[in-house]
Amino acid sequence: MRSQVGSTPTLFRHSFMTPDDPVSPPRPAQHRPPSLDRLLDRPALRTLADLHGRGPVLAAARAHLARWRESAAGQAFDPLQFEDHCRAVLDERAAPHLKPVFNLTGTVLHTNLGRALAPPEAVQAVAAAMSRPTNLEYDLASGERGDRDDHIEGLLRELTGAEAATAVNNNAAAVLLLLSTLASGKEVLVSRGELVEIGGAFRIPDIMRRAGARLVEVGTTNRTHLRDYAEAISPRTALVMKVHTSNYAVQGFTAAVPEPELAALCRERGIPFAVDLGSGTLVDLTRWGLPAEPTPAQTVAHGAQLVTFSGDKLLGGPQAGLIVGEKSLVARIKRNPLKRALRLDKMTIAALEAVLKLYRDPDRLAQRLPSLRLLTRSAENIRALAERVAPPLAKALGDRATVQVQPCRSQIGSGSLPVDRLDSACLAIGAPAGAKRAGGFPDRLAAAFRALPVPVIGRIEDGQLRLDLRCLEDGDDERAFVAQLPLLNLPQRP
Ligand SMILES: *Cc1c(COP(=O)(O)O)cnc(C)c1O
Repeated sequence: MRSQVGSTPTLFRHSFMTPDDPVSPPRPAQHRPPSLDRLLDRPALRTLADLHGRGPVLAAARAHLARWRESAAGQAFDPLQFEDHCRAVLDERAAPHLKPVFNLTGTVLHTNLGRALAPPEAVQAVAAAMSRPTNLEYDLASGERGDRDDHIEGLLRELTGAEAATAVNNNAAAVLLLLSTLASGKEVLVSRGELVEIGGAFRIPDIMRRAGARLVEVGTTNRTHLRDYAEAISPRTALVMKVHTSNYAVQGFTAAVPEPELAALCRERGIPFAVDLGSGTLVDLTRWGLPAEPTPAQTVAHGAQLVTFSGDKLLGGPQAGLIVGEKSLVARIKRNPLKRALRLDKMTIAALEAVLKLYRDPDRLAQRLPSLRLLTRSAENIRALAERVAPPLAKALGDRATVQVQPCRSQIGSGSLPVDRLDSACLAIGAPAGAKRAGGFPDRLAAAFRALPVPVIGRIEDGQLRLDLRCLEDGDDERAFVAQLPLLNLPQRP
């Protein structure tokens, strides 16, 4: 037996059919497959082995032979079908499970789709940090051990006006670490109107319990006054905390205590005052016509001694939780052993440093920071894109479905600025006129878009699949989107 596939041909002897194989049904000789060695020696299979390795190719070949033996009774073995099957199986296995998609949901910072997008500066910094040794915890001046926070602390101080800063894995971790450091075994005062649940099972009361702190609710759901805090402070109080109600709005007869007043009360009573901002944006967004969102700098200026916020919400950076504030309190947080468990890795530090540096030049930020670029895109620009993309989409849809350009409203996402919407434009895809109003058609359309090589994720509304084009950028992105439309495997006319 000739072997072209490596040094262990015996591996191949077991599971393919030979004339004396006792379990295989008798078949005419010309219908039987060639030996496995011969099959693996075919040029197509050698190419696959170069790409995927010999072991996976062998497994795919055996699987095909086993299937043929079971199902293809009486049929001739088709070597081309064999090659196609092996190629398909191996390509599918090799394709990344985590892969790019088109986020046409209309939610810019979509937690399930990875939130903020990194600028090229951050991507390059990450690649360099991953592939080379770095001074991650090494002080190049002294030649001694350094601190990984050193790469970002100066920038965070500069951008927030705080005395000190540190960072952990995400903002949930930042809040956990803060509470565990300052309030374990003690009480934390939080307004009843701020007992927030963020998606993904992050609830302020639960995180308090996990941190070993006892939550003391202050005031009522809609109204909390300074005297409510003043009366609740006791010798057991370790911390007063304000939580930015980032994903909902309480409207009507409401009252919350302004931060400077609460900060003054806390200072007078000698109790630390912390604010969880949720989404942190380091610049005033109103300069781009976006709704106002409090910044860490404002919160620090209002007298908060600690402020926590996310790296990958409005800030537009990598997943991270940032803690800025008074030096002595940040130092205590850094000494907590949990900090070690929640620390940032070098990729995140590299990306964060690059993104924070872009904030030094706010004038160019809206072009350079992808998330901000998408958030500040004009409805006219998006509409023009929709008008360009609609004809090739209509062509791909044929008579199976119709497409219209419609105005729509995008949301910022990640719980940021929940009631504010941004004017945008979408492609609305629906059943053709005259078709029966069949249920499930939009779902099947959505599934067809998700099955594309770069899956397209939209949203279903009013019996239509809507693709909000705010997050489809002009140029390369647009071309890649259009190029794969002919591959749409559409459902039948409803
Ligand atoms: C989003 C958010 C968090 C959690 O932040 P992650 O970075 O997602 O862990 C915590 N608090 C508030 C108020 C938030 O909005």
